[in-house]
Amino acid sequence: MSSSEEVSWISWFCGLRGNEFFCEVDEDYINDKFNLTGLNEQVPHYRQALDMILDLEPGKGIGQMLEKFQAGDFGHCPRVYCECQAMLPLGLSDVPGEAMVKLYCPRCMDVYTPKSSRHHHTDGAYFGTGFPHMVFMVHPEYRPKRPASQFVPRLYGFKIHPLAYQIQQQAAANFKAPLRNLSYNNGKR
Ligand SMILES: [Zn+2]
Repeated sequence: MSSSEEVSWISWFCGLRGNEFFCEVDEDYINDKFNLTGLNEQVPHYRQALDMILDLEPGKGIGQMLEKFQAGDFGHCPRVYCECQAMLPLGLSDVPGEAMVKLYCPRCMDVYTPKSSRHHHTDGAYFGTGFPHMVFMVHPEYRPKRPASQFVPRLYGFKIHPLAYQIQQQAAANFKAPLRNLSYNNGKR
């Protein structure tokens, strides 16, 4: 986990399969305002993108968040077949005040409400919709393998046929509450 072992974003990006056409430009070139003219109008999240490319903001922050992730500070996936996989915080919106923080499990790739109620007031926009995905983009070595097994619903030992769900949905849609209770209530004062 030493930060000296981390490759720069530019080296990482240029090393990706399919990116052989790019070359590693000098950081001075990217910092030169003249070369960046007009880009802020075309690139969404321009400032953050530039910081990421130059390893300014996230570099250290990601390392610290990964330490917390490995220590299980964000909690563990409640799904049985995820076998206590550690999770990362995520927002369901990038706009402040819209949704509280959720937890993303990198194994089942689903989101969960934090267990403790003291996290139910933390705005999800602090982390944003992309945080865990950005972490695993920069550090793919932390992405766990997909779950080895999956829950299989059974009744009396037999697997449930997909058609059974369809029949149940239809029956539920056609179901009407018995009128007996209504007339009983109407008869009383
Ligand atoms: Zn999970």
